[in-house]
Amino acid sequence: KSAPPLPMELLFPEDVFIAVKSTLRYHRQRLELLLDTWISRNMQQTYVFTDGEDERLRKRMGAHLINTNCSAAHNRQALSCKMALEYDAFITSGKKWFCHVDDDNYVNVGSLLKLLSQYSHTQDIYIGRPSLERPIEAMERLSPTEMKQVRFWFATGGAGFCLSQGLALKMKPWASDGSFMTTAEHIHLPDDCTVGYIVEALLGVSLIRSALFHSHLENLGLVSDAHSQVTLSYSTVENSKNTVNLRGPLSLKEDPTRFRSLHCLLYPDTPWCPRSQ
Ligand code: UDP
Ligand code: MN
Repeated sequence: KSAPPLPMELLFPEDVFIAVKSTLRYHRQRLELLLDTWISRNMQQTYVFTDGEDERLRKRMGAHLINTNCSAAHNRQALSCKMALEYDAFITSGKKWFCHVDDDNYVNVGSLLKLLSQYSHTQDIYIGRPSLERPIEAMERLSPTEMKQVRFWFATGGAGFCLSQGLALKMKPWASDGSFMTTAEHIHLPDDCTVGYIVEALLGVSLIRSALFHSHLENLGLVSDAHSQVTLSYSTVENSKNTVNLRGPLSLKEDPTRFRSLHCLLYPDTPWCPRSQ
């Protein structure tokens, strides 16, 4: 067995920029759960990128709710429009790390800081969970008549991923001021694949795989130590229910996603958590 890696860098919550992608119709259904749980403890470093104004959320989040004016459609363009703005906001923030998650992710910021502190924000770091077992193959247009196949790994957006400031700055020519959307159109791929394309195919930096990031594409019932993972997710869709297995203080009925139970295990002093179990 190897010894645990030594921390490279002392990190504080305010060193990380966490971007949550959402959409108007998920504000009640998904975002309020996050606001009641992990975001409530991490509002200062968390920004929600959505596509419609919402007075109730605005009251809870203030400037941490960012209305992108991107289309509310679930297409490549609309999604890469949000990622483009997440990227620009991160660069403007001057923070050390950029992390992107979906609005069905729980982020354990303590575990996240522990993971990121093993690296330096000045190195080229791209970390997350690959969504496929092999690299994706895409066609890159070299000129109006020449196409070339490119192969690269990417971290699935549904499990969340992080980029160091050092690497994010190198991505500027293909990501800043809206050029991210042009890059996504160039290879005809979704936002998370486009990040992989810029990092791996254009900059030659390899994705670091971490088993601590989780999407609902994997069997979440198999995740042990839910409390020490960096991200979790859920699916409560009938016939394809997929959640972490947590005994926790709340019943399946009270807490179908298990996020509230996890939050109560991590922060037992939360006012709405059951007092004694
Ligand atoms: N989303 C979005 N616009 C849409 C639909 C979804 O921005 O029209 C966001 C959603 O808020 C979430 C992410 O895209 O953060 C993934 O959506 P979802 O979980 O519904 O899909 P899946 O995980 O199956 O890709
Ligand atoms: Mn999802």
